Amino acid sequence: MISGKTRLLGVIGHPIGHSLSPVMHNAALAQMASSDFVYVAFPIAPDDLKTAVCGFESIGVEGFSVTIPHKQAIMSELVHISELAQAIGAVNTVWKMPDGWHGTNTDITGFIAPLVELDCDWSEVNVVCLGNGGAARAIVAGCAQLGVRSIQVVGRSVAKLEEFRQSFQSIDSIRDRLSIHTWDAIDNLLPNAGLIVNTTPIGMAPNTEASPLTASQAQKIQSGSIAYDLIYTPSPTQFLQQAQQQGAQVFDGLEMLVQQGAEALKIWTGRSEVPVAVMRRSLQEKLGLL
Ligand code: NAP
Repeated sequence: MISGKTRLLGVIGHPIGHSLSPVMHNAALAQMASSDFVYVAFPIAPDDLKTAVCGFESIGVEGFSVTIPHKQAIMSELVHISELAQAIGAVNTVWKMPDGWHGTNTDITGFIAPLVELDCDWSEVNVVCLGNGGAARAIVAGCAQLGVRSIQVVGRSVAKLEEFRQSFQSIDSIRDRLSIHTWDAIDNLLPNAGLIVNTTPIGMAPNTEASPLTASQAQKIQSGSIAYDLIYTPSPTQFLQQAQQQGAQVFDGLEMLVQQGAEALKIWTGRSEVPVAVMRRSLQEKLGLL
């Protein structure tokens, strides 16, 4: 029930109508006893970002998620940015403190959440990360946090790959593990990969028959390895089906979405526990996965 004291949370993006975050967060907030928050979607055009953040201050918005195209631009509106968010150069969660807006990036925690549950010696694991876009930056930082042996990033543009590598030069824990490769290296990389992450949109609905790997490349996936696709519709993707056929353990992007949201909700509400199962279920229902 929205009351005269209901506190405001939300998500900013452009466009934002497709966002699943309001469904997930309001489902959780409704379950949290004595939490009087509501979470709404704010469509904010790029040129209006500064004005919107000033407006949030005036009307008492307490925190918000940040999505495309504001993840980098929001950084200049913040008085404090966590080390993790600085490392990946993007903020997805903002909250109000007495000295101003603070920001972090919960995609890293979201990505590694299902992985840290595994009984695995990460120092023995070589990672192959398919794609070198925004999400790949969080994956690389997450893998460094797990303490993996190596992170091999595969992309189609040598210039973008080089830029990606350069941007991590000042972070020892990433620089020392990171190498960049074009797609023709895949056949050599997969036989030694313990974790393969698809960060490209290849295979996302409606192109559900597509995979970042050809059938013969997919045969190089080792039994017992882990395949992780950041895509959550469809589930499993063609890539995860290929990996399953090779005997790999698979994870889809839904858990990352849920866990990055749970981490943000903990920050905004100050609770150490939030109803993760309710958040997961609300998304599965919305996506027709149940
Ligand atoms: P992005 O910044 O646009 O990066 C996409 C990457 O994929 C780029 O490196 C791009 O290469 C590459 N790519 C795209 N099409 C390709 C193709 N046909 N062949 C080879 N490479 C291709 O996007 P993003 O923000 O990183 O998101 C990537 C995916 O992750 C999306 O599917 C998104 O929905 C998903 N995601 C999921 C979560 C979650 O919580 N589950 C969170 C974030 C993102 P170029 O740079 O050469 O164009």
